[in-house]
Amino acid sequence: MRPFLPLLAAFCLPGASAADPPPNLVVILADDLGYGDLSSQGAKGIRTPNLDALAGEGLRFTDGHSPAAMCTPTRYSMLTGEYSWRRKGSGLDKGVANGDSPLLIPTGSFTVAGLLKSAGYRTGIIGKWHLGFGTDAPDYNRELKPGPLEIGFDEFFGIPATNDRVPTVYIRDHRVVGLDPADPIRITYRDPGKDSPMKRYAAGRGRIGWMSGGKAAFWKDTEIADTLTREAVGFIDKHHDRPFFLCFTPHDVHAPTIPHPRFAGTSGLGPRADMVHELDWSVGEVLKALDRHSLAGRTLVIVSSDNGAYRTEEGEHRPNGPWRGVKSQLWEGGHRVPFLARWKGRIAPGESPALVSMIDLPATAAAMVGRPLPAGAAPDSFNLMPLLTGTSRDAGRDHLVLMSGKGDLAIREGPWKYIPDLATADGWSSGPKPGPKRPAKPGLYHLGEDPGETKNLHAEKPQVAKRLAALLAKVKSSPPARNP
Ligand code: CA
Repeated sequence: MRPFLPLLAAFCLPGASAADPPPNLVVILADDLGYGDLSSQGAKGIRTPNLDALAGEGLRFTDGHSPAAMCTPTRYSMLTGEYSWRRKGSGLDKGVANGDSPLLIPTGSFTVAGLLKSAGYRTGIIGKWHLGFGTDAPDYNRELKPGPLEIGFDEFFGIPATNDRVPTVYIRDHRVVGLDPADPIRITYRDPGKDSPMKRYAAGRGRIGWMSGGKAAFWKDTEIADTLTREAVGFIDKHHDRPFFLCFTPHDVHAPTIPHPRFAGTSGLGPRADMVHELDWSVGEVLKALDRHSLAGRTLVIVSSDNGAYRTEEGEHRPNGPWRGVKSQLWEGGHRVPFLARWKGRIAPGESPALVSMIDLPATAAAMVGRPLPAGAAPDSFNLMPLLTGTSRDAGRDHLVLMSGKGDLAIREGPWKYIPDLATADGWSSGPKPGPKRPAKPGLYHLGEDPGETKNLHAEKPQVAKRLAALLAKVKSSPPARNP
């Protein structure tokens, strides 16, 4: 019996019949891609034909958010459906994980990958992982376990942390690819001193962290996109005849911005913008693979970014579009990101102003396969399926908590946004915490009338500010009931 057959009866989306095979899920989570980096969202000098075609064939959300304003917490929340600030740990309640981090999702946790695996899907994550390995500091010369394969993925290929962090090697499942045992990898994120063989230099350039060994396994920066894309396409080719979940997490457009030579210089705006072209090519290759296997009508494709762009301008181009601020910040530019969903024949093309977040992936996937979420699982995840496949496109989440690079929080409710302390809004660039000498100064903005967050209405609308402050306190103390 094919593994997905028992699932047919459970596949119960409106309009679906028992004869329909369960839909595939492809999530493409770009790295540091800004809201304004898409031609279809106002980019100047950048052309994104594949992303634009996807937007035209699907639903384009204009109020879509990453669960946090930086890499690791967003990835944790997208996979678990839980706000990362509910967990204490490296990279979860502030900052990001280094390459020496243990696994940040405890084995046994609910994840969207585990849910779909238990529903008969083949599950794979290809690209940037950035959620650690092992129960202590990982030893890259041994099995990297537990890791993605112990939290619900059948397959993993990718880079351990970021493209600017050591170790500069690919991992397949539990092992570094191409490692020469005679040249073992050693890494540290604490200065080992100038006499140490570990250097802040690996695979041809300076990195974050210190490394020695592993030379035969080094990636080439210019080839990361080609390598990851080939693996993602290969996953679809391998599993096209059964339900699959592909989580494709490109390193584009994170620093160091080193595109393949065929993309270098193509934007005229610099290497970051050139990398957007590279990312668009990667997306196109994945979409072509779906078309090759006639899967566009049987696959929900969601494209987003793990946080906003880290630059506000490149010539006339505005990477974060009309939004204020950059990556790591509570301002919209930190976390309001491209958010596209396509499922040909099931999602009517269009645009939606509904408030949505990638933390909603687990509850949405559960609805997609007609499985209830286990008690307590994905507590902060809302089911977006009615919004995707229904006729009403206006009603999304009624609120969303936002998180900065330093772990400070803000909250959205309708058009309103409340920041408890404006001194924290600049994320990694923020000043000291409030105290006796610096009391907190709250901010309240109406994003409908003031998208650039320029007019603080806190003094004018004290009742609204009070309501949002109370809502934030309530969500912090316990997760609210999910929407239906
Ligand atoms: Ca990122």
